[in-house]
Amino acid sequence: MMEDIVSLCKRRGFIFPGSEIYGGLANSWDYGPLGAQMKMNIKNDWWKTFVASRADMVGLDSAILMNPKVWEASGHVETFNDPLVEDKVTHKRYRADSLIQDAIGQNVDGKSLEELANLIAQHNIKSPDGNELTPPVQYSGMFKMKLGSGNEEDKIIYLRPETAQAIFVNFKNVTESMRKKLPFGIGQIGKAFRNEITPGNFIFRTLEFEQMEIEYFVEQDQWETHFTHWLEQMEAWANSIGVDANKLHRLEVSKDGLAHYSKRTVDLEFDFPFGTKELWGLAYRTDFDLNNHQEYSKQKMTYTDPDDNARKIIPHVIEPSMGVDRTLLAMLVSAFHQETLDDGDTRIVMKFKPNMAPFHVAILPLMKKSGMPEKAEEILSDLQKSFRCEYDDSGSIGKRYRRHDEIGTPFCITIDFDTVEKGTVTIRDRDTMKQESVDINNLQDYLTQKIT
Ligand code: ATP
Repeated sequence: MMEDIVSLCKRRGFIFPGSEIYGGLANSWDYGPLGAQMKMNIKNDWWKTFVASRADMVGLDSAILMNPKVWEASGHVETFNDPLVEDKVTHKRYRADSLIQDAIGQNVDGKSLEELANLIAQHNIKSPDGNELTPPVQYSGMFKMKLGSGNEEDKIIYLRPETAQAIFVNFKNVTESMRKKLPFGIGQIGKAFRNEITPGNFIFRTLEFEQMEIEYFVEQDQWETHFTHWLEQMEAWANSIGVDANKLHRLEVSKDGLAHYSKRTVDLEFDFPFGTKELWGLAYRTDFDLNNHQEYSKQKMTYTDPDDNARKIIPHVIEPSMGVDRTLLAMLVSAFHQETLDDGDTRIVMKFKPNMAPFHVAILPLMKKSGMPEKAEEILSDLQKSFRCEYDDSGSIGKRYRRHDEIGTPFCITIDFDTVEKGTVTIRDRDTMKQESVDINNLQDYLTQKIT
């Protein structure tokens, strides 16, 4: 199934291999016209749901490059590492923890390098090609860059591995400018970069990706209620954008597997064709980050209780963290259907939620004559004001329907003789393939009702 999806994405303009004309760049992908639109749909819907339509949320759009002290305070410089081993023959690199976990079926997160080396020796674990492995070494997941003209001492800066830290760094600015009362949250969408040892599985794990993150600030004794609230909100949103609820599961991360900042984490896992893996994460980050930034920056990160000015606290934090690219992949997997039709033919159809599809409507003049193109263009310019439309007049109508099934367009509007003579169009439903005749004057209402 994964191969079918990857090939459809290339063929139909969703996702292309990165830098393809130069032989590509391993595990980099470029979003084509339809993929770019779907990413935009995901981000817009997220922003609308979690930021714009909630009185307890505000947004942020921070710089990718930050003062390197941020990453010392956050603990990333010291702990954002993965244990790396190398195949002594092929020199291919692997994450030691994943190899060990696959071999002995035990989660080894949090184990030291020495303990991992012992497990490899004890269980005689080899590389996937059957060769000896080097001892594990720590490998930083952060991309380092040099800043400077060359005259002064070059300064090391990092590409951010998450968007979250910028939210903490701006906590004071936001609370002072927005006068929000606890509980409240800050949401942000942006690129993150990780020097992953084993990127792969299409857009599931890449070196460069986009995150949609929320830091939700609460009173310490309220964290459990908010944690539950956000878990439910994340699941509800998954459902609303067309992530198959039957493939989505909660995984309570064990104490050993928790990240250095977390007291509780639930991963929302999804059944991808290559295995059940993390789609999104929800973490209780305590007051770890704000406390550390207060200590490192020497700036107060306290919040003053508006009902009691003498009460100054460092709020605790719930963090719903979601990747845009993984979300798109889960939507592609959920939408992909291969159907056998009554005549024995097969069709591939992407059953996206209508509002998430690249196009809402395809406008298809049956012929390039008899006044049909003129009528079709009139309808196009009218509908374009409210819907994402594509005008398509090439090939037989059957071929055009198939193409729009493959890109998930929920409604195809055919302009034919009846349109010119009687003012009606034929609307074909993507999922049922049923056709209906609708008066042009009722088109707008018809589509508004169906597209949610
Ligand atoms: P994993 O265990 O898969 O490496 P993680 O636990 O390190 O993920 P988080 O740090 O919780 O991931 O990041 C939040 C979200 O960002 C993830 O749930 C995922 O949706 C997305 N994400 C993380 N790493 C990548 C990546 N390399 N490529 C694409 N998306 C990613």
